[in-house]
Amino acid sequence: MKILLLEHPRSITPERCNDIANTPLSSCLLTGYAAGMLKRKGHEVDIVEGYLDGLTYEEIWNILDVLKPDILGVHMVYHWKTDLALFGFLERVKSEGLASTITVYGFYPTIAFEDILKRAPAVDSVMVGEPEMPFADLAGSASHGAHLPPIPGLAARDGSGGIRCLKQRPVDDLDLLPFPVRTEALYRLPEVNLLGSRGCYGRCTFCSINSFYGPGSPWRWRSPENIIEEIDGIISEKGATDFYFTDPNFFGPGWRGQERALRIASLLKPRNIRFGIEARVNDIHDEVIGPLVEAGLRHILIGLESGKDDSLRRMNKMTTVAQNERALRILRKHGIEPNVGFIMFEPDSSLEDIRINFEFLRRNDLLKNLSVTANVLYHHQIILEGTEAYHHLRKEGRLETGPSSSYEGTAYFRLPEVAALANIMRQVTNILFTCMEGIWSGKIIEPPGAREKYSEVNRMLVKVFGDSLRALEGGERFDEAQTASVVRETEKEITGILEIVCR
Ligand code: SF4
Repeated sequence: MKILLLEHPRSITPERCNDIANTPLSSCLLTGYAAGMLKRKGHEVDIVEGYLDGLTYEEIWNILDVLKPDILGVHMVYHWKTDLALFGFLERVKSEGLASTITVYGFYPTIAFEDILKRAPAVDSVMVGEPEMPFADLAGSASHGAHLPPIPGLAARDGSGGIRCLKQRPVDDLDLLPFPVRTEALYRLPEVNLLGSRGCYGRCTFCSINSFYGPGSPWRWRSPENIIEEIDGIISEKGATDFYFTDPNFFGPGWRGQERALRIASLLKPRNIRFGIEARVNDIHDEVIGPLVEAGLRHILIGLESGKDDSLRRMNKMTTVAQNERALRILRKHGIEPNVGFIMFEPDSSLEDIRINFEFLRRNDLLKNLSVTANVLYHHQIILEGTEAYHHLRKEGRLETGPSSSYEGTAYFRLPEVAALANIMRQVTNILFTCMEGIWSGKIIEPPGAREKYSEVNRMLVKVFGDSLRALEGGERFDEAQTASVVRETEKEITGILEIVCR
């Protein structure tokens, strides 16, 4: 069976240019894992990197026209309500007979499969959850010419106007999966992405990781030896020295998770590589971070989320502010300045919550680096289907969804003064992100003297936030004209300071 797997082009509007929750990083190897499994089953598989290779739909069309696959599998990424180009393309592919069957997979379609099957007639089926096993079953039944039987993990129309979806169990033993296939485009990234575990034992209300994997063991791991075998293969084939564990939660729960991390550290150390991970703050322990750093750990993303215990409880983060601060201390002691996840604006935030968050960030030296400052001072909670927050706000009648897709919801801020500050910071930081896009994405080389300019803009952002917050606390209400004036003035300052960088 001839199968083409497509990473489709992604278009992100300027208003959402820095909203990263549309697809988690841990999904970046879904196509590679599906390809590995399909190859193992004897199928002919090609991968088209529409996103990383910057292909247009016309260029992808030409590839499809040559290959004419039996199955076109698309890793579908949420497009902030703008899927129309992709759906239109798939309609054309189907109507011109360029692919006999179209199936889609990924976080977004897993959660919104009914919506997608209703809106996109060209899509024949949706892989719900991990794609390896349902994809192998789908390709197997198609190669035997059988009428498509119900397949666990595959949602499809039932022929009588409904949709049938048979649940699948997550893969029990991840060591039994073939290693993911990596394209040249993936090897061009600054680090080679790896997946050492799947899922998370946390239950944060804003996160849909566990809805993707479905019920079963919430955190599953590969053995350290299996991970090292994959890394050794990449080192010998590509000479790679930089890796990134895209696991949503590198450490498993409790002491077992820590022991596994120590074992990984001991195996990695003689290989002289560098790597990054993502983790929960309660899993950061001196005794384990030390050996990981000695083994090559160079950067880490930790989800602090808030500087207030009540907010952490509201998000069901199962961590405390004290744990946040302890994790920062331990990492810094070992020379690691972490990247942090932080939700400044929740739908139920009060000005007091925002003030406490602001002071937490200041106290912990998290407002000194422009890219961190810009992120932590504007992040608001994104509400996607499949999360507890979405469910809860909908039940309360506070969630609005658009006519084109119910996947993303909007819950208005309970307090207008919080909405005003969130609005100012979103507009101001969007101007900055657009201006810095070339530099932060590595497409443009930083001009001399840029660092001093960043410090200046950093101070200015902190000041705009602090001044606006103080004014709101003092009872001032920002109407549309006032907001527009603050944004305009700040824009003038940002573009003035960053003239040498942004031109
Ligand atoms: S810690 Fe929370 S946000 Fe992070 S992966 Fe786990 S559930 Fe999701």
